Amino acid sequence: MRPSVRATLLTGIAELVTNDPCVGDRSPLGLLRHAAVVVQDGSVAWVGPATEQPPCDVRRDLGGRAVVPGFVDSHSHLVFAGDRSAEFAARMEGTAYDGGGIATSVRATRAAGDEELRRLLGARVAEMRSQGTTTVEVKSGYGLTVDDEVRALRLAREVTEEATFLGAHVVPGQFAGRRDDYVALVAGPMLAACAPYARWVDVFCEPDSEHAFDAEEARVVLEAGRAAGLGLRVHANQLGHGPGVQLGVELGAASVDHCTHLSPLDVAALAGARDTTVATLLPGVEFCTRSRYPDGRALLDAGARVALATDCNPGTCYSSSMPFVVALAVREMRLTPAEALWAATRGGALALRRGDIGHLGVGARADLTVLDAPSHLHLSYRPGVPIAHTLEL
Ligand SMILES: [Zn+2]
Repeated sequence: MRPSVRATLLTGIAELVTNDPCVGDRSPLGLLRHAAVVVQDGSVAWVGPATEQPPCDVRRDLGGRAVVPGFVDSHSHLVFAGDRSAEFAARMEGTAYDGGGIATSVRATRAAGDEELRRLLGARVAEMRSQGTTTVEVKSGYGLTVDDEVRALRLAREVTEEATFLGAHVVPGQFAGRRDDYVALVAGPMLAACAPYARWVDVFCEPDSEHAFDAEEARVVLEAGRAAGLGLRVHANQLGHGPGVQLGVELGAASVDHCTHLSPLDVAALAGARDTTVATLLPGVEFCTRSRYPDGRALLDAGARVALATDCNPGTCYSSSMPFVVALAVREMRLTPAEALWAATRGGALALRRGDIGHLGVGARADLTVLDAPSHLHLSYRPGVPIAHTLEL
């Protein structure tokens, strides 16, 4: 029998965002003012008005702060070593991004020991948690050999259940002129070795980049991943119009990520696939590469499901901050503050096909983020200010 765990009453909540439309104001955010929450055994056991709060063994007053579901960062590349700040500086002076800098991280990551990589990864996850992120997806993709990809996924699995095999990140230098051989390696022995450590397979589908993969190469990798029991994700339409979004929708991917360059047909495909495939937008990348932003407004207006994530990685967006991404989505992609918060929480959970996170309905995992502010509006109203913190119970 499990030991009984004391219930904790959280009170003094000026505004509670549940993402449960049956609660509170009945909006998608399920917003409740002057609320209380009871947490027991790691789950939300009760939610309601503070005037109706039940007695509990332990009581914690949050002093008039807002509480939102922990952020679900459904796209990151946290297993890497090395420093590419000079590449960022060069880009700010006009050098274009085409995916080639990934090789720099691959060299540094292969050269790093397990302990160093574990320490770097742990520090990045802690940095995310300190800013309110309670779930993070972590990709491999800076190893690009069988052993180095397995190592990255083993380490990722130590910090998250959402580990993604991204052997098809770029074609490594030693396979120059032999792309087919590399695709066969990724879809064959590398996948076989990595699948036990991964929940997902991903591919950088970008025919405009000589380093990335075209539609047919991406299909080979994704279909092999699916046959190995992995769910599908796609880096799609980041650098230009391309086949990635359509391929992801066709194959039933859980998420197509970036979606920076979408045709009306792509938008319609994502709207039609809203119950299967989430469009995950990563506006920190556009910020850090000084590129045009995805049209998040058009996706929402068409009826597509939208998630927001950081894409935290050493090349195109070395930011771990979901509040920063929320602020960008409001300012640059014309999402409302409510839509942006939903996309950064429930949207991310849907992109990972998780029902236990991204909301604070009864039964959800007790992943709560507290804001040093009376309302969620402050996430985009106060950009760059560290107001969001994971509630450690
Ligand atoms: Zn990425």
